[in-house]
Amino acid sequence: ASRSLQEHLFRAPTFARWNSTEASPQKEDSATELKDRKGFKGHDMLAPFTPGWQTTDLHPLVIAKSEGCYVYDSNGKKYLDALAGLWCTALGGNEPRLVAAATAQLNTLPFYHSFWNRTTKPSLDLAKELLEIFTARKMGKVFFTNSGSEANDSQVKLVWYYNNALGRPNKKKFIARSKSYHGSTLISASLSGQFSYSLPALHQKFDLPAPFVLHTDCPHYWRFHLPGETEEDFSTRLATNLENLILKEGPDTIAAFIAEPVMGAGGVILPPATYFDKVQVILKKYDILFIADEVICAFGRLGTMFGCDKYNIKPDLVSIAKALSSAYMPIGAVLASPEISEVIYSQSNQLGTFSHGFTYSGHPVSCAVALEALKIYKERNIVEQVQSICPRFQDGIKAFSGSPIIGEIRGIGLILGTEFTDNKSPNDLFPPEWGVGAYFGAQCEKHGMLVRVAGDNIMMSPPFIISPEEVDQLISIYGAALKATEERVK
Ligand code: PLP
Repeated sequence: ASRSLQEHLFRAPTFARWNSTEASPQKEDSATELKDRKGFKGHDMLAPFTPGWQTTDLHPLVIAKSEGCYVYDSNGKKYLDALAGLWCTALGGNEPRLVAAATAQLNTLPFYHSFWNRTTKPSLDLAKELLEIFTARKMGKVFFTNSGSEANDSQVKLVWYYNNALGRPNKKKFIARSKSYHGSTLISASLSGQFSYSLPALHQKFDLPAPFVLHTDCPHYWRFHLPGETEEDFSTRLATNLENLILKEGPDTIAAFIAEPVMGAGGVILPPATYFDKVQVILKKYDILFIADEVICAFGRLGTMFGCDKYNIKPDLVSIAKALSSAYMPIGAVLASPEISEVIYSQSNQLGTFSHGFTYSGHPVSCAVALEALKIYKERNIVEQVQSICPRFQDGIKAFSGSPIIGEIRGIGLILGTEFTDNKSPNDLFPPEWGVGAYFGAQCEKHGMLVRVAGDNIMMSPPFIISPEEVDQLISIYGAALKATEERVK
């Protein structure tokens, strides 16, 4: 049954401090829960994706040390790192082999670049390894970046360069999806879609998105399906909408479509049945490239080496980062199909150079660490490890699905999202001022666990090395935080 926002507001006085104008529950109650944080208030850093700390009572959480699946703050408090940093420390916080790989490389060659046909062995070896490990289809070349955002920015430049080389100067537009997250540089933030909770902030006041970016539907079945519509029908409708958008804009103006196999930051949104099959048919029909943004999904997160393996995606281009080095060193990469690589090579030969790259493209220390991470993934059968631990994680958290304040719990492998709504309905959002998600996040933190909070969405993606006992602890803290949040919302 759907209840109106008015009724929520009517219930609101039972919600601590809800009526106070100067103190919203989100700011003040969460701050009270986190009163242990000390020091560092009003620091000098313009912190990424952070509200103005100076205007709140909440001090930043300063992380000082990591160990396995745990991190410690500057006061020595221990937290289970249920998001693996930012979906990235796949091998946990103190893998000695990664430290040794970095140290050995630092002692031999801490830096050399890859410009002008000079390069280093770790970058050559890593490129070779990546082309072997990616098997969803054969890829041709690897271009190194320092981050996922740079990888996605590079995708746009590569695709434009490619279409210019083919004499298709008008085929330049990109289609991304609502609620996608592709990064925060000018182009990758433009590709990122509308989030219900924060996207206005990603675009607004930054003069974004860029005009060549179009957004199509978010494939979130639970939230957007019509009454009686099956997942397959929903996918068909979304593919038709995509085709209509392409036809409206003109197929000869659309260069590429970009998608995360499972949407991460948008709330952990899994593709509905047959979605990628149908989308790929449409893209093929109009000669539009498929860019798979595997920045979160790659290297085992979904229980397959890549998200493309899970959903039978045959991409033309792939972006990777994060678990590539288990986040111990910054590195990202683009994998380009043989056809695209060929065209780029011949174009750059004509021009005399391929003029794109970063000082740190293929940084030898980052590449040495990534090579070691890939070796560990192989030796430890990381994909099988994720497959064996993930049912405990998924089933344990999904057992809370009956909670009256949870709308949906969704996930696969070692990634999971919880969305708080009232009446279990996608349409009954709690008023943002209630700060339900923030309160849950603060409770987790109080009990010693860090999760990602985005509005009333909670996301978790623990390290691949998480043990059964640690999964049990994660579930138990989740349960305690949920109980406290339910009591507060009642
Ligand atoms: N693409 C996806 C799917 C991501 O989740 C992210 C970051 O979370 C990015 C791109 C951007 O990566 P970075 O923060 O390394 O620039």
